[in-house]
Amino acid sequence: MLVASQLTKSYQNGAHRLTVLRDVSFSVRAGDWIAIVGPSGSGKTTLLGLLAGLDTPSEGSVLLDGTDLGPLDEDARARIRGEKVGFIFQSFQLIPTLTAIENVQVPLELRGERDAVPRARLWLERVGLSDRTTHYPAQLSGGEQQRVAVARAFANSPRVLFADEPTGNLDSATGERIIDLLAELNREAGTTIVIVTHDLALAGRAGRIIRLSDGAVASDTETQ
Ligand code: ADP
Ligand code: MG
Repeated sequence: MLVASQLTKSYQNGAHRLTVLRDVSFSVRAGDWIAIVGPSGSGKTTLLGLLAGLDTPSEGSVLLDGTDLGPLDEDARARIRGEKVGFIFQSFQLIPTLTAIENVQVPLELRGERDAVPRARLWLERVGLSDRTTHYPAQLSGGEQQRVAVARAFANSPRVLFADEPTGNLDSATGERIIDLLAELNREAGTTIVIVTHDLALAGRAGRIIRLSDGAVASDTETQ
């Protein structure tokens, strides 16, 4: 489903070259659930952006469901993301002028889905927000905004779901509920899940844990 080959990402900063990912290689089979862990600044968010085609590597390649993202321009990458990828960002990235339900429903409508409204309602219900559907993001707590972002990503039925610290803003009970939803999606729809987390309970639910240290893979182990 996903093959990362010798991914390197560096930034030129005046005369100084900052390498934030070096020579990262691994592959993920369809239906797998992997967790990427590592200290703050170790390159986790950068790696997720490369894998999802949101960003391009300095060297190396990403194969997403058989497509090499390297030669694609921004429009072609956006198309592949729309077809196959769900992304839950660390900073939610909800649209402030849309209500909770509109944030979930509009991407579905843009894809021409006819049942966008009932599907958006169903997913908001599943993340526990049925009584917040007409709230705007500014009227929601951080945890509630995070759950809208989760509903939006799930409603799209992605082949691969990328999530950057999806329980970072949630209390442990709500976090648990989001983890259970991820597990359900993985089990029932066979969705491949790549998650970045500090939460050891969440990492432990994944079948495999890749540990980054200073931009490189320090370990890559199966959990069961
Ligand atoms: P993590 O998610 O593991 O905390 P990140 O991937 O966000 O780490 O960042 C890894 C390193 O890359 C950090 O040192 C960060 O400052 C640097 N970095 C990220 N984005 C940029 C950028 N656009 N320009 C320069 N440096 C960046
Ligand atoms: Mg990060």
